[in-house]
Amino acid sequence: MCHRSKSELEAYVQATMSLEQQDQIEQHLEECEACFTIYLDVIEMQPMDVALSENFTTDTMEQLEHLNLTPKKSNQNKIVGHYLLAAGLTIVLMLSGVFQNFLSVTTNLENKSSLTEQLMEKTNVVLEEMKGEYK
Ligand SMILES: [Zn+2]
Repeated sequence: MCHRSKSELEAYVQATMSLEQQDQIEQHLEECEACFTIYLDVIEMQPMDVALSENFTTDTMEQLEHLNLTPKKSNQNKIVGHYLLAAGLTIVLMLSGVFQNFLSVTTNLENKSSLTEQLMEKTNVVLEEMKGEYK
């Protein structure tokens, strides 16, 4: 397995690499929790105003409604798209048991749900902030 560097993940989040490279990283994130964790950090460090646009809330709500987790669809809400993708991947990874090794470090089973909850909460907070600004 070939791990991704932080700068590669940044380029992925900012979509400053070829689609082919983005696909490769996406595939790797689906099976590697180490890089996925770094990926979450990278998303967190992105300035949210990059994602702002007048269609922002509408686009995001549409994505939520259709559970369309593809971040490349729109450049305008790509950062939020990554949040949604991350939330979806977290669930996929947990369902597939990839996170079990990661979680076995602690005996606290509540961590399994709180990881998803934290991520979803973060996404919700971001969405609420955006809705507030554009009312
Ligand atoms: Zn990796």
